[in-house]
Amino acid sequence: MKPPVFLDRDGTLIVDRHYLSDPEGVELLPGAAEAVARLNGAGHPVFLVTNQSGIGRGYFTEAQYRAVHGRLVELLAAAGAWLDGEYHAPHTPGDPDPEALRKPGAGMFLRAASEHGVELAGAFFIGDRVRDVAPAERFGGRAILVRSPESEAEMPPYAEVAGSLAEAVERIVALDRG
Ligand SMILES: [Mg+2]
Repeated sequence: MKPPVFLDRDGTLIVDRHYLSDPEGVELLPGAAEAVARLNGAGHPVFLVTNQSGIGRGYFTEAQYRAVHGRLVELLAAAGAWLDGEYHAPHTPGDPDPEALRKPGAGMFLRAASEHGVELAGAFFIGDRVRDVAPAERFGGRAILVRSPESEAEMPPYAEVAGSLAEAVERIVALDRG
């Protein structure tokens, strides 16, 4: 099995609308669905891992999140792409032990590893924020930070930068070929 790829949602796969609660607001970033389809075709398990504190803050409900996710799945499917798993943290930064549950905490990644039997060592962690890619250092994976308006100026030394998800996936597929 090829190494799994953990993808952030907002600003990585879709346009970051900040506390998106309306399925109509789901807009794939250019080339994102095709990039996921390439990973699917290459045999990399793809997992969506997203902090959704809007649920914990009461801005939208779990059901609304599900509707948004359903729309995302539909748009991916139209491009022949799919997610092998989906993990979201409804917690707010103020919740007890939020770091274990929300990114950069390990909770969602450990659940994916145990539920899908994938190795975190050697996995790819892709996102537009440092907290998305920080688990790479902890688990011995590879961090690819995708530039978005939300990206931090400071980049951790273990991360590399890509202009888009499509560019990040290009590198992963090139590594597959050796
Ligand atoms: Mg993001």
